[in-house]
Amino acid sequence: MSRPRAFVETAALQGDRVTLTGDGYHHARRVLRLGPGDELELFDGAGLVARAIIDGAPHRALNLRIAERHLQPPPAGPTVTLVCAELKGDKMDLVLQKATELGVDCMVPVTTVRSVPRPAADARKRRHARRRKVIREACRQCGRAYLPEVSPSRPLAEDLATHAGDEAFVLWESTEAGGLAAALAGSTAQSGIVLLVGPEGGFTVEEVDTAREHGFGEVTLGPNILRADTAALAAVTLASAHLGRLG
Ligand code: SAM
Repeated sequence: MSRPRAFVETAALQGDRVTLTGDGYHHARRVLRLGPGDELELFDGAGLVARAIIDGAPHRALNLRIAERHLQPPPAGPTVTLVCAELKGDKMDLVLQKATELGVDCMVPVTTVRSVPRPAADARKRRHARRRKVIREACRQCGRAYLPEVSPSRPLAEDLATHAGDEAFVLWESTEAGGLAAALAGSTAQSGIVLLVGPEGGFTVEEVDTAREHGFGEVTLGPNILRADTAALAAVTLASAHLGRLG
């Protein structure tokens, strides 16, 4: 059984002692019932990992002494970026959580012609903060030392031009092209693999054309029409498997 983990900001991991409060405290103390003498693995999401021992439990906090720390190297090889259309309800949270477990390095929510409407600026800010929390929690649970990035939501057209030099694929159920797995097998990507998935209502033909103009290759995930969240996770799984991240 792996050691219980808690996320702390990088600055908090520089000294020999840490005081854990907030979500980290709640999970360790209230959920796992940890107390003085128990160990925790602290991580900052940027590769720094520390083994710490609880030596105090004042009100709504845990005091820990750092016994050792090390900087874990980042995952080798090309990065995996999932560009996913905004999805209805909490499906994007599910995609963020599962894609984090599956090894994605970066996620870019995009708005498309048929995706859910963009909320007002303050709602977008709150949503982005919640998404970063979803990712931190997924990293805590699965043992990753590096947090994947999640960018604020942006229009698809704005994002397409930012992947020059990467091996980019648009997942399109109407394509005559070959499968993503075969395309990855032939991939020589050095910098990054980019996977673009549409919303529940699909891409417009114009959106696929624009993606193609920006160097995205069309690929299929087979004859079945997958739900957007299923397609996103299937694509990340294939890319991570191609890079040897899934054993
Ligand atoms: N046109 C679909 C339909 O008829 O229901 C709606 C889009 S599908 C639910 C959501 C997204 O998942 C698509 O935009 C595409 O990116 C991806 N997708 C689903 N099935 C796929 C497949 N077999 N091959 C490639 N992409 C697929």
